[in-house]
Amino acid sequence: MTETRSTCPYCGVGCGVLIASDGAQITGVRGDPEHPANFGRLCTKGATLALTVAPPIARQTRLLQPLRRLQRQGPAQPLGWDAALQWACDRFAHTLRTHGPEAVGFYLSGQLLTEDYYVFNKLAKGLIGTPHLDSNSRLCMSSAVAGYKATLGADAPPTCYDDLQHAHCLFIAGSNTAYAHPILFRRIEDAKRARPALKIIVVDPRRTDTAEIADLHLRIEPGTDAMLLHGMLHLMLREGWADAAFIAAHTHGFEDLQTLVHDYPPQLVAQVCGISVDDLTLAARWFAGIEPGTPRQPTLSLYCQGLNQSSSGTAKNTALINLHLATGQIGRPGAGPFSLTGQPNAMGGREVGALAHLLPGHRELANPTHRAEIAALWGVPDLPQRPGKTAVEMFQAAADGEIKALWIACTNPAQSLPDQTTVRRALQRAEFVVVQEAFATAATCDFADLLLPATTWGEKEGTVTNSERRISRVRAAVPPPRSTDSTDPTDNGPRHDWAIAVDFAHRLEAVLRPGQATIFPYTHPESIWNEHRAATRGRDLDITGLSYAALELAPAQWPFPAGATLGTARLYADGIFPTADGRARFDAQPYQPVAEPRDARYPLALTTGRLRDQWHGMTRTGTLGRLFGHVPEPALELHPQDLARHGLQPGDLVHVASRRGSLIAPVQPSDALAPGQAFMAMHWGAEFLGGSGSGSNASPGSGVNGLTSAALCPRSKQPEFKHSAVRITKA
Ligand code: SF4
Repeated sequence: MTETRSTCPYCGVGCGVLIASDGAQITGVRGDPEHPANFGRLCTKGATLALTVAPPIARQTRLLQPLRRLQRQGPAQPLGWDAALQWACDRFAHTLRTHGPEAVGFYLSGQLLTEDYYVFNKLAKGLIGTPHLDSNSRLCMSSAVAGYKATLGADAPPTCYDDLQHAHCLFIAGSNTAYAHPILFRRIEDAKRARPALKIIVVDPRRTDTAEIADLHLRIEPGTDAMLLHGMLHLMLREGWADAAFIAAHTHGFEDLQTLVHDYPPQLVAQVCGISVDDLTLAARWFAGIEPGTPRQPTLSLYCQGLNQSSSGTAKNTALINLHLATGQIGRPGAGPFSLTGQPNAMGGREVGALAHLLPGHRELANPTHRAEIAALWGVPDLPQRPGKTAVEMFQAAADGEIKALWIACTNPAQSLPDQTTVRRALQRAEFVVVQEAFATAATCDFADLLLPATTWGEKEGTVTNSERRISRVRAAVPPPRSTDSTDPTDNGPRHDWAIAVDFAHRLEAVLRPGQATIFPYTHPESIWNEHRAATRGRDLDITGLSYAALELAPAQWPFPAGATLGTARLYADGIFPTADGRARFDAQPYQPVAEPRDARYPLALTTGRLRDQWHGMTRTGTLGRLFGHVPEPALELHPQDLARHGLQPGDLVHVASRRGSLIAPVQPSDALAPGQAFMAMHWGAEFLGGSGSGSNASPGSGVNGLTSAALCPRSKQPEFKHSAVRITKA
């Protein structure tokens, strides 16, 4: 038995794992005691990883050979890799010849490795010339990205997990850390046990398990976060709790913000948010770190989808960062804004520029200098000049007939995107849909013309970046499973995501760049990594010193430039920000209510979120009975008063309807919610929930996201999963 050092493939905590195997099969997994993200701990999901790859489960769930559908809704027939990729090449080439590069789109995943992401980005923007490449990271972190860039100048969480040991106040906003980032929550519990004086504020409309640890739970009305944060700043300014010296030395734009928050007096804020003025005042004082007779104490903010998944997500992020800048709570141990990454490698995807507006090394597609730098690195004459369509926009464009060919890798949009009626219309209308996927059970597989089997955790090599900018190696412990159906053992079985993209790119190069040397000369993930490192030279995330050999020693936090021997735990300690003049900028944006307020027809506010023991669309976690022990079946949670008002008993079935679709689910009482609110976990897909879309093209049974709203934040283009107006009727 051998142990292979790798990383958990689930959440952005980025825990290290040791995979036990006999060389052919994975036989166990344990936490890596030397990994600085988890020091040997694993949550329920991580601890059961080995069970999800057991051969009996893999035989039922894995996609094991390329499959082609010659007719939609028809049976999928196996074919060899060569035929599959040549067919994909021919179909893409036809679309490019007929409709141009903007008729194709790529939709990727925060669960791809950095090297996979890099190749796809180069394929789309460098070879094909389409800007339409986006990722499901758009659904979880794009408001955090836009918030950091608007205020601090770069997409860089300035803090680290060790800050939990130094903070005197934790401000946890819109994050059920106990479920979404369980091992980080263990560290929060440790910190509270070690220092009971640590003050924990939790901002959440629900009384989650995270809220149970709070000294102060601000149970705000859904969507009123920016109102709360502006109200806190109003109080800080009135009481003299701001840090005038920091503001004067390190920031711009404070006057505009001061004028804005003047209109957020405590009584108004308390009324809109549904909290007391006393609690608002206490939160402002604790956040500012004001203790009689002591210097200012450090405050660390931890935040996640409650701020990000909003039609004003960027404004919520910047309102929180404004507080840190106004109180000088940044750049020192225990202080700063800390966005918690949802997925294991949403950060790595941003680093290589795999979003519709980005290029490698945190560059912008709209910036001519950035385009020239990357065109020179890639050896291509030019790059698309403007940002492409983001996740929701890309599927809307496919539904409208503008995007004709879609390549979807390692993500499940037929379950996870909001407004499934539109998504399914897009998948049906697109002329050619490629789904590159490890699991045959993903809902999107049903819409594919071509299915390409990919390797997954335990089988592939590369890197990921976690929430604290720490890059870890992902390593293969065993070879991928093979299909027993194929007659050709050399042309069979799942392939690595980067290798599939490279093979396809070589074929397309023969059409688009005949006779020229390939720009995809990669034979191993390390060669891709080295090109990515070169792209970061001189940038805020410079990792030119972080070779695979250096990563053999230990995971490391960027920046890690050439010559460095250690990564960078904390950013902006010198008070200099990555902006033109080194100063951070306040971002004065007024509070915006939710896009779809409750009304007489749709009187309930539905929010979605994670369960403790499930992951995304449950393709992996849904294979284990023990992971259903915590929550065994889908339910719409409602306050007991709302059950009584509708004459419902626990377990009764209801039709839940929004303006976009409906489903049938049992109800459960929950006093974690306020009256008028409803909650359903994001994981439940069509196989668990009956329902329908609202339009003539709708497909029956599209899960909870048949209900959710695709209203977007205008700056980040992140959809508002956290609030949709719904109604219920007894089924
Ligand atoms: Fe995996 Fe996240 Fe659990 Fe760590 S906390 S074991 S990364 S799911």
